[in-house]
Amino acid sequence: MSNRRGLLFVVSAPSGAGKTTLVERLVGQLTGLTISRSYTSRAAREGEIDGVDYNFVTRERFEAMAADGEFLEWADVFGNLYGTSALDTDRLLESGLDAVLVIDVQGARAVRRRGMETTAIFVMPPSMEVLERRLRGRSKDSEAAIKERLRVARQEVASYAEYDFVVVNDELTPTLDGLRSIILAERARLVRMRGEAEKIARTFV
Ligand code: 5GP
Repeated sequence: MSNRRGLLFVVSAPSGAGKTTLVERLVGQLTGLTISRSYTSRAAREGEIDGVDYNFVTRERFEAMAADGEFLEWADVFGNLYGTSALDTDRLLESGLDAVLVIDVQGARAVRRRGMETTAIFVMPPSMEVLERRLRGRSKDSEAAIKERLRVARQEVASYAEYDFVVVNDELTPTLDGLRSIILAERARLVRMRGEAEKIARTFV
């Protein structure tokens, strides 16, 4: 694995599907896997830390970065701007780490349009009812905000077939198992293992 370039994973899920918790746990369970930290123009929520949860920037700064072509992809989500730095992502992959982009459906499409090699995973809530219950349970969001998230969720779920893998987020442990097995299977593909396998095979001759 030593000097290989990292693999790029894209994870999308409707807001409230619990993807942040999932991806953080996933990264905690697998060595060599990291989350690519996005930039956003939205204000930090209580408990969020700049440089940890996101790189929080002003809308002006975000727009300047977008105009300078600094983003691999960016999107307007719920009226706020979110983007993935092309340079940050490239540095992660160059260092040999596998990186996960936790981005929305529009972002996933933009990455695909760039022709980058990715493994895209869609995390689905078990049903609309369950998502609605989770959204109401977790947040102090207004009724209007919850309705808006559900409307966007309906659109996003309709895009699941654009992804390589689908994981239903019912119980935490099996969902994590599903995500972990996708990462491990991608790492074990022949095209990626050939160098190491060849070295091992040579010790047999
Ligand atoms: P939140 O504000 O709840 O943290 O995120 C809202 C939405 O923005 C989520 O669907 C999340 O996946 C998406 N998002 C976060 N970072 C990025 C990014 O860099 N690019 C894109 N396209 N979407 C992002």
